Amino acid sequence: MNDVRELYGQMIIDHGRKPRNFHLMADHTAMKVGYNPLCGDKLVLYVKVENKQVVDASFQGEGCAISMASASMMTEALKGKSLEEATTLFGHFHHMVTEGLSDEDESALGKLAILSGVNAYPARVKCASLAWQTLNAALSGDDNDVSTE
Ligand code: ZN
Repeated sequence: MNDVRELYGQMIIDHGRKPRNFHLMADHTAMKVGYNPLCGDKLVLYVKVENKQVVDASFQGEGCAISMASASMMTEALKGKSLEEATTLFGHFHHMVTEGLSDEDESALGKLAILSGVNAYPARVKCASLAWQTLNAALSGDDNDVSTE
């Protein structure tokens, strides 16, 4: 069990240090700024949606390892998902970090479930949720910047 925890920790550290899809996207269809003042995490999320499908997702910004890893893994998971699937994923992720990981969450989220550990650390929930809340606002067409406060 400890080995598994160690592996999950390594995966978060790896994504935190070398975030995937970490670049500006010039031809995005939606862009949103998200900010977590509690920790100082800030990111700009870019998504490209065509025919109700997320064809590309990227981000830029700076923050703690959890926030960067969460954004990195989220952008990887989003590519190729329909808007409906993306919204469902958001729901499972939100449930996982606030209420705890259910079996349904685990099967829907796949490796994103490694972030379920933040559930035990309320301050970290906002770090892990930032990218997802920003995504939700971007897809719903909300004009305001996102703040976790
Ligand atoms: Zn943070």
